Amino acid sequence: MKLRPYPRVWMDDRLVGLQEALVPVTTHSLHYGTSAFEGIRAYWNGENLCIFRLDDHVRRLRRSGSFYNLETTSTDEQMAEAIAETCRGNDVRESAYIRPLYFVGEWGISLHVTGDAPTRFAVIVFPLDKYFSDGGISACVVSCRRFSDQSTPVHAKMSGNYLNSIVATMEAKRNGFEEAIMLDHAGNVSEAAGANIFLVQDGQLVTPDDASSALDGITRDTVIWLAEQQGISVTRRRVSPSELHTSEEVFLTGTASEVVPLTRIGERSIGSGPGRVTSLLMRLYADAVLGRGQAPPEWITTVY
Ligand code: PMP
Repeated sequence: MKLRPYPRVWMDDRLVGLQEALVPVTTHSLHYGTSAFEGIRAYWNGENLCIFRLDDHVRRLRRSGSFYNLETTSTDEQMAEAIAETCRGNDVRESAYIRPLYFVGEWGISLHVTGDAPTRFAVIVFPLDKYFSDGGISACVVSCRRFSDQSTPVHAKMSGNYLNSIVATMEAKRNGFEEAIMLDHAGNVSEAAGANIFLVQDGQLVTPDDASSALDGITRDTVIWLAEQQGISVTRRRVSPSELHTSEEVFLTGTASEVVPLTRIGERSIGSGPGRVTSLLMRLYADAVLGRGQAPPEWITTVY
């Protein structure tokens, strides 16, 4: 999906025009993928722009970089404020997707990244309504495996890691599916190329555990919270690929994807649209991102 960014971009310490938000070709992260990034959603509630779980995203952004010795010159509060300011500076009054990234700047061709490596910080905002259709999408299990902690840290959301997701997506699309489901190094279900996965079994939720090499998604955490509030239990455990075909419902979660049902996995159709539990969680999630329902108030940061 090609999105057109808003015209003002945060670059290091201020807003600049999109045309000025440039980096030199010698930028380290361009060569080696040493860029920590986030995807954050902001929703217009008719009166204000609500950024969902901003503090949690900023915390994960810093943590991702810390796996690679990346140091920022700003505090978490300053990064959060820069993100809100980028929305304000563009007068965003519709649902949007925010892409902050901090990355190694001029560090030659060295593979030894230390705390002395200079980092840069950018924030781009795009208008974005639905990423996927609410009616559900198709997915298939792809042959390429999700990388594991045995190669690079799975909980670091680094741009270099996404080559794995890109290869997986290429395979899914080539075979006529919208999303790729990846297995982990042991052959259990891990996650989709850019989203976590849940299965509904006997009306309860199952999702791959920490050993599955999946990213610890913030939407996943939100959905677990919302489900438990409804008395729906959530089990984190190893999930075998055959369970994708025996579960009542399967859905994905992610900031961009939100809560999206899988209506076909490989050759198998699952219902004719979102199932009962998935529909409930889609509704609760749509309320939570606007600060409605019982969601903790700290999940919402208003921009204006
Ligand atoms: N897994 C991967 C590989 C992702 O890129 C994403 C999107 N950030 C997710 C899971 C979902 O994470 P979140 O809910 O925090 O967006």
